[in-house]
Amino acid sequence: GHPLFRSALPVIQKLTVHHYEAVFVGGCVRDALAGRDIADIDIATAATPEQVLELFDHVAPTGLQHGTVTVIMGGKGYEVTTFRKESAYEAFRKPSSVEFISDLNEDLRRRDFTVNAMAMSEDGKLIDPFGGQADLRRGLIRCVGDADARLQEDALRMLRGLRFAADYGFGQEGIEPSTWAAILRHGSLLRHIAMERVGVELHKMIKGPHPDWAVQLLLESRLLENTKEKLPLTAGNIPVAWMGPSQGEQPSEVLLEPIDSASCRWAALCISFGLNPETSRSLFQALRYSRQQSDEIVSIIALHRRTVNLVVSQSHLEGDLLAENWTRITLEMGKEASQFWLEMIEQAPWLLEGDETRSLVVLLRRLWSELPVRELQQLAVNGGDILSDVRVKGGPWLKNLLFELLLDVALGRLPNEKKALLQQVRRKLEKEQS
Ligand code: ATP
Ligand code: MG
Repeated sequence: GHPLFRSALPVIQKLTVHHYEAVFVGGCVRDALAGRDIADIDIATAATPEQVLELFDHVAPTGLQHGTVTVIMGGKGYEVTTFRKESAYEAFRKPSSVEFISDLNEDLRRRDFTVNAMAMSEDGKLIDPFGGQADLRRGLIRCVGDADARLQEDALRMLRGLRFAADYGFGQEGIEPSTWAAILRHGSLLRHIAMERVGVELHKMIKGPHPDWAVQLLLESRLLENTKEKLPLTAGNIPVAWMGPSQGEQPSEVLLEPIDSASCRWAALCISFGLNPETSRSLFQALRYSRQQSDEIVSIIALHRRTVNLVVSQSHLEGDLLAENWTRITLEMGKEASQFWLEMIEQAPWLLEGDETRSLVVLLRRLWSELPVRELQQLAVNGGDILSDVRVKGGPWLKNLLFELLLDVALGRLPNEKKALLQQVRRKLEKEQS
């Protein structure tokens, strides 16, 4: 068995020793059969939450109303959920009530796709009443039961379906026809889903193994046109980059996949849709991404814009002036954004147009690698040093002054030495006073 399964085995064994049926279930079984890394292990059991709480020493009631508790064993947490049935769905999302049951097959029936509706017992026996294993082998994402009904029960399943089809490299042809037809029919129900949950799904798609498949599927299904808050990623402005040779075929190019970081993938996606930094920020706000996450991506996009504008407007200029202007831009945008941007451009050269631009980027990359300083922390003086040396009251001028020093040092006009820098500060202040 899979090593992760082995580590969770004591949890299942303890339940079964006490005569409660217990199995591995859902995503972990799917991933194990597909030979992929397992994200988290879910266990389903006939024991009620109270019974599970009683049985284990280290256990937390993490989602009692859904029948879920988390058992901690060997430093890891395992979600243990009581077999359940979801009686009625409200507003196309969460069930209004759950009912605990003793039949595993009934529990599997409420799950979204056949590949997610499999369980495995402690001795490795597969419980697969809906043909999930065969679908996984054939590369098919198929709703359990009637696709229309299942997607109407919970509209988030549409996005989950696209995510699985992308992550497993199945593509649109890998979404079983009646499931695909139901996605096209019920897309508008996505407006009932909280933007935060949409954001989580999209993020999983973008950072997953096949982000290009995911974007392609989102565009073909037009699902994103139906979110509660409008997103600037809709069909009106589909960039050529995302047009496959024809509907349903593999994207003509692999655009995002070669990019390592999720932030750079997001930035590249926004850039390919022609989004400016402000519009991009509003996208991440709508998706409820953290301020930090959004800042990181937006600064890569802003740096890209400024750099492309610079290169386009100044390609005829002397290398020195280009170097100076670009150094200013990178220092202003910050070290992280600059590193991210250089990495993104290397992994996704399609973001730049023209051989000339690309060759200039080679120059910028070398320049960056040779910069003696890239951030204020590396400067031989800080604000405190300056204030105690010149005995002037602090203020916004100090920040500007530090930045100018950083630029001078970065461009090799000043050595990064305390004495020389303080001398320069005095010179500048005197000049301003006179
Ligand atoms: P991943 O962990 O990679 O996101 P997963 O399939 O494990 O994928 P989880 O959210 O961890 O997804 O859910 C675990 C299982 O719960 C799923 O495999 C599926 O059986 C069931 N499930 C999750 N969300 C839904 C849903 N919206 N509708 C029906 N069943 C669901
Ligand atoms: Mg999971």
